Amino acid sequence: MRRKLAAGNWKMNGLKAELDQIDALKASHATPSVDLLLCPPATLVTSAAARLGDHPMMIGGQDCHMEHSGAYTGDISAPMLADAGARAVILGHSERREAHEESDEMIRAKASAAHRAGLITVICVGESLAQREAANTLDIIGGQLSASVPDNSTGENLVIAYEPIWAIGTGKVPTTDQIGEVHDFMRDRLERRFGAGVGRSTRLLYGGSVKPGNAAEIFAVSNVDGALVGGASLKAADFSPIIEALE
Ligand code: PEP
Repeated sequence: MRRKLAAGNWKMNGLKAELDQIDALKASHATPSVDLLLCPPATLVTSAAARLGDHPMMIGGQDCHMEHSGAYTGDISAPMLADAGARAVILGHSERREAHEESDEMIRAKASAAHRAGLITVICVGESLAQREAANTLDIIGGQLSASVPDNSTGENLVIAYEPIWAIGTGKVPTTDQIGEVHDFMRDRLERRFGAGVGRSTRLLYGGSVKPGNAAEIFAVSNVDGALVGGASLKAADFSPIIEALE
């Protein structure tokens, strides 16, 4: 049985003052029945993890380097994230695939390094609007899955987030049939590659304009095990009802 997961991606938002959102989430979800993950900017990982106390919410990073250490100015390695208190890391977000020209091969190497450091990886895949309109969605998702998910993945350390690029931060959401088609396809691909054990225990999140008003409908779709939430994770008042819809 897969445990549901609500994950928040703060992107490049948040100063120390915003850590009070963690206090608010702790207060409204003192004993959550789903897994919670919050990924603040790297500058806040240590203090966010400390702010949790003994609350089961996880703190994660938004990217990591594929090497353990070295001359990579400005980068952060997976062991560094783990050392700072992170338990997970988002990899291959479309904003990084685009703005930082991250390839599937780079994402795979980063994910492999993250798994070796004991981190859960949330690997993002998703098609552009042009690719969807050209009826290439499943080919794109299949290609990204096979090339960016590393062999050292398990049902515990791997989470996939299906994030159609055209739905991120736009308020546009695919139909539930479109979400279901991609999630069923991803489940099938993972089972074929890793076998039923890993394939069936890997959590599949939907991401892209998830809001309190549409969360319940999305969570009712088969093989949707939770959400990766951007904008609506910044305020506990928005993230909290999304978590409740999953519980
Ligand atoms: C995201 O960036 O991962 C995301 C899903 O953003 P939003 O929820 O704001 O669309």
